[in-house]
Amino acid sequence: MNNLQNTDQALDIPLGNDYPEIREGIRRICANFPGSYWQDLDERRAYPDAFVKALTEAGYLSVLIPEEYGGAGLPLRAASVILEEIHASGCNAGACHAQMYTMGTLLRHGSEEQKQRWLPRIADGSLRLQAFGITEPTTGSDTTQLKTRAELVQDPAGDYYRVTGQKVFISRALHSDLMMLLVRTTPADQVEKKTQGLSVLMVDLREARGNGLEIRPLRTMVNHNTTEIFIDGLKVPVENRIGEEGRGFRYILDGMNAERIIAASEMLGYARWFIETASNYARERRVFNRPIGQNQGVQVPIARAYTEYVAADMVLRKASALFAAGLPCGEDANIAKLLASETAWHAGEACLQTHGGFGFASEYDVERIWREVRVAQVAPVSTNLILAHVAEHTLGLPRSY
Ligand SMILES: Cc1cc2nc3c(=O)[nH]c(=O)nc-3n(C[C@H](O)[C@H](O)[C@H](O)COP(=O)(O)OP(=O)(O)OC[C@H]3O[C@@H](n4cnc5c(N)ncnc54)[C@H](O)[C@@H]3O)c2cc1C
Repeated sequence: MNNLQNTDQALDIPLGNDYPEIREGIRRICANFPGSYWQDLDERRAYPDAFVKALTEAGYLSVLIPEEYGGAGLPLRAASVILEEIHASGCNAGACHAQMYTMGTLLRHGSEEQKQRWLPRIADGSLRLQAFGITEPTTGSDTTQLKTRAELVQDPAGDYYRVTGQKVFISRALHSDLMMLLVRTTPADQVEKKTQGLSVLMVDLREARGNGLEIRPLRTMVNHNTTEIFIDGLKVPVENRIGEEGRGFRYILDGMNAERIIAASEMLGYARWFIETASNYARERRVFNRPIGQNQGVQVPIARAYTEYVAADMVLRKASALFAAGLPCGEDANIAKLLASETAWHAGEACLQTHGGFGFASEYDVERIWREVRVAQVAPVSTNLILAHVAEHTLGLPRSY
């Protein structure tokens, strides 16, 4: 009933502050981007250019890129630590985490020529891979049914795919040079399994916009620079296809454990921020002639959120260790993502309630981060879909979808 039951391999799971220099370095950068910086961006729904530049220049966004392509070549856990510390500092990595989400697909399935073409420039920040186009308006979580169609056109000047379709909720597309796009290359009625016939294309948004691709901002309750993308007759050179044609869904699935682990790390960072912020406020705020934190009704939700945080952190560390050891980690990556998103939400609720009316005042940052953590129960994957995975793959229950 557990993904470790058939292995006797001992796992090396670091506890405490692993990667202390990275944590310290991130905290130093984040100290230059206080709440007022994020409040202003939130108000204007603007992109944190200066923050992303600072992280890029310090090399933190390219830690997963191998050294031979200009990155630091560190394991996934290092990326987790970076994102956790960013969020624990009250900053937001939503503007720039996509290259970490998608990096595995490019590293594992991209050709040597593609890696040479893109990775060094992603590493030095001159090329931004910050958009990932999967979700579609009519098919949502049912990814294999997506309708964006790419047809191979043979052309003496160079073969290309002609792409037509629509994507929705695509974050940062207006602030990215490249977008990793999942499309259907073989119609669904011509494949044996619904997971076949999908392919991954790297779209150069700089050339694509105005040439068959249009991006429209889609305002949401969080500042993720989310967009809708309309594609009509876009030409994508065949050399921009990652891996084999028709195997794209498999490639995206391969990357999902890393994505779950990274997303969980961000939410654990926010859980820490909420727990610390709530505890500080509960110690200092005096009502009825005593600190509000002296009341059990105030301290219990904060303490409970902390216990949940400790448990989620442990599962996350286990998932990261399994990932690093090349062992199956789907169950733990999914559970870590679920627990972390719920821990952050419970911690956010405790923090908001602890602040009373001040929790609603933007200058305290609580309401902004409270909105942010709510997203994690829906994106990049919703809680029900995680539980469906556990039900089917761990508990052997019939597939529900
Ligand atoms: C701020 C934000 C940023 C995003 N950024 C990106 C991005 O950059 N790129 C990208 O591709 N996508 C992005 N998304 C989209 C996100 O991945 C989807 O919203 C998410 O996968 C859910 O899809 P959906 O919204 O179509 O919901 P639906 O699939 O319509 O689901 C709606 C509800 O029904 C439930 N549900 C559906 N089917 C089942 C089932 N079989 N069993 C049980 N429950 C079910 C779901 O859990 C969910 O609660 C973003 C979304 C948000 C909100």
